[in-house]
Amino acid sequence: MSSGNIRVLGSGREVGRAAILVESSGGSILLDYGVNFDERDNPIFPEHVRPRDLSALILTHSHLDHVGAAPMLYISSGPPLYATSLTLDVSRLLLYDMIKLSGPNLPFDESIVAEMIARGTHLNYGEIVEVSDFKFKLLPSGHIPGSASVLIEARDKTILYTSDVNVMETKLMRPAELRDLEANIVIIESTYGSTNHPPRVETESRFYESIREVVEGNGVVLIPAFSVSRGQEILCILAERDPGWPIWVDGMIRDVAELYLQNPGYIRMYGLLVKAMREFNIVRGWHDRKMAYKESGVIIASSGMLKGGPSLYYLRKIADNPRNALFLVSFQGRGTPGRQILETGFALQEEIPIRARVEWFDFSSHIDQRGILELLKNMKNIEKVILVHGVPKAQSILASKITEEFGFEVLNPGVGESISF
Ligand SMILES: [Zn+2]
Ligand SMILES: [Zn+2]
Repeated sequence: MSSGNIRVLGSGREVGRAAILVESSGGSILLDYGVNFDERDNPIFPEHVRPRDLSALILTHSHLDHVGAAPMLYISSGPPLYATSLTLDVSRLLLYDMIKLSGPNLPFDESIVAEMIARGTHLNYGEIVEVSDFKFKLLPSGHIPGSASVLIEARDKTILYTSDVNVMETKLMRPAELRDLEANIVIIESTYGSTNHPPRVETESRFYESIREVVEGNGVVLIPAFSVSRGQEILCILAERDPGWPIWVDGMIRDVAELYLQNPGYIRMYGLLVKAMREFNIVRGWHDRKMAYKESGVIIASSGMLKGGPSLYYLRKIADNPRNALFLVSFQGRGTPGRQILETGFALQEEIPIRARVEWFDFSSHIDQRGILELLKNMKNIEKVILVHGVPKAQSILASKITEEFGFEVLNPGVGESISF
C-alpha cells in the first residue's frame, strides 16, 4: 500500500521551473516554485497548486527557476515558508528585479513579495522541522551560497531532493554534504546528466591566462556573469591571483556581493570576496561606467547572457575592436544574445558584429554525470531515483548508466505526472 505521492509540477523533462509536491494523507510539502522564461521573455509558471492545500513551502535556493513563482502562493495568506536566511535575502532582491523587468506579465507585485519573505522561517542546515506527518531538514548542496538539498521523512520513507547540487569545490562553495545519507527515494537534478565538466583548476588557469593575453595586448576583457554566485565566483578567482590590472564590477553582481559580505558563514573563501570588493572598482554611476572601458583591464558585469543590464552596454562599446575580448562564463540559453554570438559571431537583435575575441568557459555549478554516479554510490537504501531538472536526452543517457551500475529503478516523470511511494 502506498503512503504518498511525488507530483512533478515543474522541472519534469526540462531544465528549470523547479516545483515538486510531496503528498501524504496528512498533508503536502512543496519543494521550490520556480519560473522559466520563453524566448520573448514571458514567464512560464509551474502547474497550479492551491496554497491552502500546502503544509509548507521549502525554497532550496535563490535562483529564479526555483523561487520565481513562489509569490503566487502568497496573494492571499499562503503556506509556512522555510529557507536559509541568505536564500530569502537574495530571493527578495531577485524577485524585485524580476518585477521591474516583467511586472505587467506577473500576477504579483513587490508588496506580495515583501509579505512572503517576512513570513519565512530562517533555517540552519541540519535543523529538524516537523509539519503534519513530515520531518525535514536542509543540507548544504554546494550549488550557490545559501543553497540546500532537502531530506524528508514521510512516514516510512525517506526522500532526498537534491535540488541544484554541486560536488566540486569552488571559491565560494564547499562541495555538497550528501555522502553516506540514507534515502529510499532520491530526486536528483540531471542538467548535466550526459556530460562531465573539465577539472576546475584547468578552467581557472586557462581563463586567467586568456585574460592576461588580452590585457597585456592593451585590450579590454568583458566578462558578463550571472548576478547570483557566478559573478562573485569570478571576483574571487581574480582576487586570489592579485593581477594588479584595473578591474571593474557593475550591475546586480555588486548588490548580491554586498549581501554575501554580510553572511560570512555561507562563503568558503570569504577573505577573497572581501578583498575583491575592497580593491576592485565598483561602478556607481555613468561617470564610472564610461571610465571602465577607456583603458585596458577587466569588466565583470551582469547580465550573464547579455540579455540586458550593463554587460550589454559594454558589449556595444568593446565589440568592434579585435584587441578586446568577450569571455562568457555562464550558461547561455537558447535565443539569447550570448548564445547567438557563440554560434554566429553576431549579436542579432543588437546588430553588432563582434570583432573582439570570443570564448566560453565552463564554470558550471551543477553536478555532472561522474558526480551523480559517485553521489549515488555513497548513499544507502536507495529504491528509486527520480530525475528532474534535465532534458530527456541527457536523462536517458544518465538513466541507463545508473541502472547499469546500481540496478536502481530510474524514472524521469514529465510535468503533471505523479509517482507513488
Ligand atoms: Zn535550477
Ligand atoms: Zn540553481
